[in-house]
Amino acid sequence: MAQEHEPFAEIRDAVAKLCARFPGTYWRKLDRDMAYPQDFVQALTEAGYLAMLIPEEYGGAGLPLAAAAAVLEEIQRAGCNGGACHAQMYTMGTLLRHGSPAQKQQYLPQIASGALRLQAFGVTEPTSGTDTGALRTTARREGDDFVINGQKIWTSRAEQSDLMLLLARTTPLTNGMKKTDGLSVILVDMQQARSNGLTIRPIRTMMNHATTEVFFDNLRVPAENLIGDEGKGFRYILTGMNAERILIAAECVGDAKWFIDRATAYAKDRVVFGRAIGQNQGVQFPIAKAYANMRAAELMVREAIRLYDAGANPGAEANMAKMLAADASFEAANTCIQTHGGFGFAEEYDIERKFRETRLYQVAPISTNLILSYLAEHVLGLPRSY
Ligand SMILES: Cc1cc2nc3c(=O)[nH]c(=O)nc-3n(C[C@H](O)[C@H](O)[C@H](O)COP(=O)(O)OP(=O)(O)OC[C@H]3O[C@@H](n4cnc5c(N)ncnc54)[C@H](O)[C@@H]3O)c2cc1C
Repeated sequence: MAQEHEPFAEIRDAVAKLCARFPGTYWRKLDRDMAYPQDFVQALTEAGYLAMLIPEEYGGAGLPLAAAAAVLEEIQRAGCNGGACHAQMYTMGTLLRHGSPAQKQQYLPQIASGALRLQAFGVTEPTSGTDTGALRTTARREGDDFVINGQKIWTSRAEQSDLMLLLARTTPLTNGMKKTDGLSVILVDMQQARSNGLTIRPIRTMMNHATTEVFFDNLRVPAENLIGDEGKGFRYILTGMNAERILIAAECVGDAKWFIDRATAYAKDRVVFGRAIGQNQGVQFPIAKAYANMRAAELMVREAIRLYDAGANPGAEANMAKMLAADASFEAANTCIQTHGGFGFAEEYDIERKFRETRLYQVAPISTNLILSYLAEHVLGLPRSY
């Protein structure tokens, strides 16, 4: 049950009920097989949760970011993994904000109904890493098409997506040009592309995340799939990043709650030396500390959401929320394992799986160091370090 201080209590309770149909046994099997949680994603789609942020005129629920954050937090809190589909909620934001009326009419209703999945986001490349302006994938205009060549890495859910939002260089970098200029956002129809120059290779990772590397070999995409103006793609991608960071921060808060609940229950139950281990301060203090840190992170997530839903562009708060929540979830994960002793490592407790899953958010979608650099430069006015 949602607690009093938690907004959208009804939605939270409904999500918790849906998630109860997907217990640890379901996730463990998928984890072993590195398989996609198709039934879980389908259930979320049918319940309309993945279309919450799409305006009503396009068939979505037109709800604020706060509602989407509540959904993702509850998914994680229930021991499920929203990483399989969270991007379906927010990737469409770039299309919504910068697409033409015809593009929006063409795609958004189908994304809202779940007929089309837009949950692949092709930005990161093997050689450029966090330095997005240095990306090498090119989209060269030829008649009515763009011809795309290059490679992306860590393109999650590419195999489970009908559309990919791709960032590629449309103007070659020349002396004096800003590195982040000349990049464009192009919508790629994956079905059409697969037999025409797009190759997808899954990457096995420490957690089950359906991530891939993708290769473009003279892939032709209609020029009408360009989103917004040519050369301004980096700015368009940036505007979607705050929503992504805030939503992933909400997921981390959900993870932290799951770990804290598990650790607390076990500490009350497990008897060693004739008493519950939770009676020892050495066991209860780390759990209490994880709880305090989770609540502090939760407040920052709420503040970021409040500003975002009021129409601001809260870069500092979105970044801080993401960093503090990722730290809180990992601290809670570590404490949960320690509280369980040896059992924390056993697959059937789900803790080691969730531990692996939540570790990702120290690195993706933005690593902690880059958040600290952002705060140092943009909030504290310190010199740019890179
Ligand atoms: C499972 C998974 C799923 C992902 N999904 C997607 C996706 O769907 N789409 C997509 O585009 N990307 C995706 N990513 C990529 C992710 O966003 C990047 O991994 C992340 O942004 C870090 O970039 P990098 O791996 O290139 O690290 P690098 O940029 O190579 O950095 C390596 C390390 O050096 C540090 N570092 C680099 N530069 C500096 C600096 N100037 N100062 C201090 N420290 C620095 C970083 O913090 C990091 O710890 C995913 C990654 C993973 C692992």
